[in-house]
Amino acid sequence: MAEIDTIQALSDKNNDEGLRQLLQFKQNLPADTKPGIRLEVLAILSSLYYDAGKAKLGEQTVKEFRELAKQLKDKEALLLLEIFDAYDIYEKTGYAEAIAHLEKLQDAVSKSKSIEVQFRYSASYAVFYSNSFKFDQALRQYLNMLKLSEQLPRRQLQAKMRTWDAISGLYLQMKDPEKALAATTEALAVSSASQAPKAFVAISISRGVALSSLKRNDEALKEYETALKIAKEENLPYAVALALFNMADQYLIKKDYKRAESVARDAMAKSAALENNWGVAGARVNLGLALGYQGKVKEGADLVKESIDFFDKAHAQSDVEAIVGEFSQMYEAAGMYKEALDQVRTQQKLSDQIFQSDRAKTVATLQEEFDTEQRKKQIEILAKDNALKDADIKNHRLQQLVAGLASLVGVLAGCFIYMLYRRSKKLNEQLQEVNLQLEFHAIRDALTGLHNRRSFISLMANRVGRVEVERREGSYRNPDCMVLMDIDHFKHINDTWGHAVGDVVLKEVAVRLKSVVRDEDMVMRWGGEEFLIYSPKSNPEQITSLVERVLRTIGDTPFTHGDLVIPVTVTAGFISVPFSDVPEEFCDWERALQIADMALYLGKTHGRNRAYGLSKLMVAHELAIPTLTHDLAAAIKQNMVEMIEVLGPPQETTTLSTNSSMHA
Ligand code: GH3
Ligand code: MG
Ligand code: MG
Repeated sequence: MAEIDTIQALSDKNNDEGLRQLLQFKQNLPADTKPGIRLEVLAILSSLYYDAGKAKLGEQTVKEFRELAKQLKDKEALLLLEIFDAYDIYEKTGYAEAIAHLEKLQDAVSKSKSIEVQFRYSASYAVFYSNSFKFDQALRQYLNMLKLSEQLPRRQLQAKMRTWDAISGLYLQMKDPEKALAATTEALAVSSASQAPKAFVAISISRGVALSSLKRNDEALKEYETALKIAKEENLPYAVALALFNMADQYLIKKDYKRAESVARDAMAKSAALENNWGVAGARVNLGLALGYQGKVKEGADLVKESIDFFDKAHAQSDVEAIVGEFSQMYEAAGMYKEALDQVRTQQKLSDQIFQSDRAKTVATLQEEFDTEQRKKQIEILAKDNALKDADIKNHRLQQLVAGLASLVGVLAGCFIYMLYRRSKKLNEQLQEVNLQLEFHAIRDALTGLHNRRSFISLMANRVGRVEVERREGSYRNPDCMVLMDIDHFKHINDTWGHAVGDVVLKEVAVRLKSVVRDEDMVMRWGGEEFLIYSPKSNPEQITSLVERVLRTIGDTPFTHGDLVIPVTVTAGFISVPFSDVPEEFCDWERALQIADMALYLGKTHGRNRAYGLSKLMVAHELAIPTLTHDLAAAIKQNMVEMIEVLGPPQETTTLSTNSSMHA
């Protein structure tokens, strides 16, 4: 094992030499060598083959590994292979199936004592989660990997570097290049660059992508050039191709199309030599664009289309979406507006598919899974990790400091690096909405566990850009709806049964509200005893039925606490954004909410346990909106607006006065 360690450390600096020595080592193994050692050798050998660009030999070695593992009935090795199978499944059928496959392995993995198995299991999850936009879950896996990396029997620091680099990739996907850059700094801090050229190359490329996202293009180009130089020196053909691919991208940004063309051609040839289809397809896009911008539109377009086909077949929808966006820009630059428009339409369709469904799902998932406690723990782990780093560096042998990237997450994951980079740079702006949800601050209300006002405001902050796109596409028919609620006579509840019981009521209201909304709706605690439901893309019928459900779920059955029976009702006001086709520059979500608040108070003055909603304007918005926000009753009297009234379930006795001069 010590000899293997030495050879692997050597391979970190000089892949070819490491490969040569490992092959020699393998040939000279005595017949009675422990099978575990043989498996280890094969695992490392395969990754060195891949790094050397010898994919065929790499595959053969994996096969040999598989056969030996079967023959030995080596549980850990077989489990590892099953984990890797998920990548195949991902490529063939998509992430849902890949995740399902991993879930099936859960039992075996938790029983396994091998930290390496657990590490790689987490790593696979992280890849699929991040590719399916479940960033929060992906991050959780990465943090777990940081923790596990400290218990790995070998090459802890490489694992840690690799993980930080992956975290950087995740932040790029989340459109947070600042944090991505910071994560690469963490990665570099684990070990020095001269000790770990392999890792350094990969991290340089990540830094380049982060810098490029920050529009620090010259610095980005420098990172890629450094990566290219070292990759060439260390005989890492795969990294050479990756650096070239990214450089071509950078030249496209700089509008240096001649250089972009030549570098893209180089990247394509290098990837082809490695039989790396992902690399070829990526570089071909850049080549096509470079040609197109130089006036060779037909030739360029054909190349781009060929790659779109490839990514399409590989289930890389986000990549297709990003490429199609660039493609339309190229057509536009060439003055081919019809073609440009066609591409924009395709992009919009794809983007709807990807982001509408996934965004809604992600927000819903987050709502369920986010808990402040967990978040705090994660931050603690991160902090602890920083503290441990110094100790790590001192405690490990030098050769263990040297990082080898390819051997860790598994050789089969290579293609994902391509996907990740392309996607991260070009990810649709709409993702920012999700990203905002993931900021490192508490977005939950401590009492009810619901989202709070702050998280909703963050969500809305990105609304403007998205709405603009939707309006251009004319898909305006299903506006988002907001239902604002206030518990009736809550002071009385507090006064009668005490503040603690008041809190119990608030919690139960939260539970009941959550039980009547759709998955994609968001329930928030807006203030003390005010709640808000945000219901994206609902038509007026849906919203009226939602409001009915709200009034019923609260008012139908009294709340109970111990022996106490507490009748509770709410009053609500509701409205849509955009409201009555009024452009949002004249009535944005805040203004609309102000109007909903007016409607709520109208409900209070009309006896509570009811809801008022605004369905549409009867006069020009210039005239109506100012009145609506200040004196809804007057606006109704002047027939400026059409209202909907929804009554709550009748209550047995009304012991409380319904007169509320304060709301009048
Ligand atoms: P109305 O139907 O007119 O709204 O009557 P109300 O009693 O609900 O009047 P109002 O909304 O103004 O009073 C809200 C009360 O809610 C005041 C405040 O003491 C109480 N409250 C606010 N936050 C909390 C909380 O977190 N826990 C408890 N127990 N009470 C709260
Ligand atoms: Mg109130
Ligand atoms: Mg109240």
